[in-house]
Amino acid sequence: MFVSDYRRQPTGSRADSSERSGADANRQPSRPERAGGSERPSITARAEASILHADLDSFYASVEQRDDPRLRGRPVIVGGGVVLAASYEAKAYGIRTPMNGSRALRMCPHAIVVPPRMSAYSEASKAVFEVFRDTTPVVEGISIDEAFLDVGGLRRLAGEPIDIARRLRARVRDEVGLPISVGIARTKFLAKVASAVAKPDGLRLVPPDGELDFLHPLPVERLWGVGEVTAAALRERGITRIGQLAQHGEAGLRAILGPAAGRHLAALSMARDPRRVDTGRRRRSLGAQRALGRRGRDPEEIEAYLHGLVDRLGRRLRAADRVCRTVVLRLRFDDFSRATRSHTLAEATDRTDTVLSAARALLAAAMPMIRERGLTLIGIALTNLDDADAVQLTLPFEARAANTLDATLDELRRRFGSAAVTRAALINRGEGLSVPILPD
Ligand SMILES: [Mg+2]
Repeated sequence: MFVSDYRRQPTGSRADSSERSGADANRQPSRPERAGGSERPSITARAEASILHADLDSFYASVEQRDDPRLRGRPVIVGGGVVLAASYEAKAYGIRTPMNGSRALRMCPHAIVVPPRMSAYSEASKAVFEVFRDTTPVVEGISIDEAFLDVGGLRRLAGEPIDIARRLRARVRDEVGLPISVGIARTKFLAKVASAVAKPDGLRLVPPDGELDFLHPLPVERLWGVGEVTAAALRERGITRIGQLAQHGEAGLRAILGPAAGRHLAALSMARDPRRVDTGRRRRSLGAQRALGRRGRDPEEIEAYLHGLVDRLGRRLRAADRVCRTVVLRLRFDDFSRATRSHTLAEATDRTDTVLSAARALLAAAMPMIRERGLTLIGIALTNLDDADAVQLTLPFEARAANTLDATLDELRRRFGSAAVTRAALINRGEGLSVPILPD
């Protein structure tokens, strides 16, 4: 087996320059600019409850109800095949986003379905963000319909945070015609929970000495990032309230949910910001490669090796609690020339299947070159690495918990050794024994 880290490879600088050309050919549309503007100031926890989380209620559906009076007070679904937004009247029937449109209509046959009007939403969003920026210079846009606002420095000019929040809600209602809910707390995480609890069209202040009283009676689903899968795993053990999470503590939650989610939820349940202090330089890429010798390999065989490399890197990525955004394919040919191709994902990931589909696309694009020049080495590097924790505050870590195949394989390998399990595609490819076989 020929595995090594790319940081030890002498070809780094060359790879970097050729990555750029590869990226041009394979680049996805770049990440859309954050709603609410260019620079994104960073807001950190304060001593007082002066962080606002402002979140429009059922945004697309509210815009539709605003613009068409016939829709007011009625169950409205925006979208067609998939529900993009549902008015509160529709949500009362259990309709959620994203949900299959026909399922939603079975739940509420008299719902009115309207097609999305993205330009109207974008215009409304701009108007709301104008009000945000008029309220405080420190606005951190999260998406088209929500933002954090730091109003800590405004007391003398504009009054208490709760008064500022009341005015903000009134202005969005009067000037843009939309309902918006606001949570106020000492941390972003609590402010976001508070706005969700306040919905629809509400306001909720969490005073610093009342954080645990506020948090502990709430269902675990209220925590940022806890979705159906995590909630189900907790429910199986009788944990439904945030206070119970706090009782289990970090060790107990790690045992149930794994190290990353366990640490995360333990911190959140005590109203602590779970982000670690960065203690120094960490590696910037993970890589693995495999020499193929000089005999010709058929495309299926090459793909199976690719799969094996991605599997191994995915495991290392998750074990290190990290996520990557860029997947780099490295190739060496019969004549010792090399090529690299890279692909940058829209969102950071630690999922094997996501990395694999990017790697496969790169390999497919390089196939004509491989056929022509003969492949002697294949390598994969994961770059643009970040701590999983840093991302999990903005992306629900449900995506991690939901990836049960990755989690299952990681756990089996941890317990029985790395040769214990292999995916069906790798059988008889020299990548380990094949017991038991899990679906690919
Ligand atoms: Mg919203």
